Amino acid sequence: MPASLLSRLVRAAAGLRAPRRAAADAPFLMVLTGAGVSAASGVATYRDGGGPGRPSWRGMDARSLASADGFASAPRAVLAFHDERRREMAAAGPNAAHAALAALEAAWPGGFLLATQNIDRLHEQAGSRRVVHMHGSIFEGLCPACGLVFPQEGDMLPDAACPGCGRAPARPNLCWFGERPRRMGEVHAAVDRCDVLLVVGCSLAVRPANLLPSMAWRNNRREPRLGRPVCRVVEVNPTPTRNGAFTEVVAEAAETAVPRIVAELLAAPDGRGGPAA
Ligand SMILES: [Zn+2]
Repeated sequence: MPASLLSRLVRAAAGLRAPRRAAADAPFLMVLTGAGVSAASGVATYRDGGGPGRPSWRGMDARSLASADGFASAPRAVLAFHDERRREMAAAGPNAAHAALAALEAAWPGGFLLATQNIDRLHEQAGSRRVVHMHGSIFEGLCPACGLVFPQEGDMLPDAACPGCGRAPARPNLCWFGERPRRMGEVHAAVDRCDVLLVVGCSLAVRPANLLPSMAWRNNRREPRLGRPVCRVVEVNPTPTRNGAFTEVVAEAAETAVPRIVAELLAAPDGRGGPAA
């Protein structure tokens, strides 16, 4: 990791740990994760913005497999596809990046939010607690009729009715093509107030995640007038996106870079140290 990145992160963490600072003034850390975090756990991505790696499954393209229209026209195939993904993700385990982010959340003195594009539950399995799944969860079902969200561990039966209203066939609780991501109010509020935005393993090919670094960066223009420190917008990605909003870039895989960044943050002396700038 570049020394400048490390020292800035450590200083950001150290500043928040100053004992006299009110909790409300403590630095807020936001983490945004994408497929690159789960890749080392063997979880493949199928919804990655239609790039060249976009897969097909039994002759169906991603849009047919992950849209309300596709579900209406071929419900059995769409459910079978997601059943396979659910079984794969149920068999996967968190890797070192998930573990490090959970440790960071547990030890971070200020506010924290982890927003993920991933539909697996590896962050939770590693111990993360403040997690927003912007694209939903493969381990939840959704009733299109009444909006009920319910746990879904096993395969989904094509004719299964909603456990709440008994009506329309239930579907996975995922943000399919053309649908609104989940809980974006919370995500935007965190981006607006964060002092560090750590973006890990995101191709930033999909809205609205690709807009979040810019939102954080824009705050840098007005924060100095408010007397707040400048927000660090950090990218961890073996193939950097070249998004101009990032103030630091670590061109490395999540499972090796994140544990090192977190270890350095957590090793910072209480409010008094960190390496020289
Ligand atoms: Zn229902």
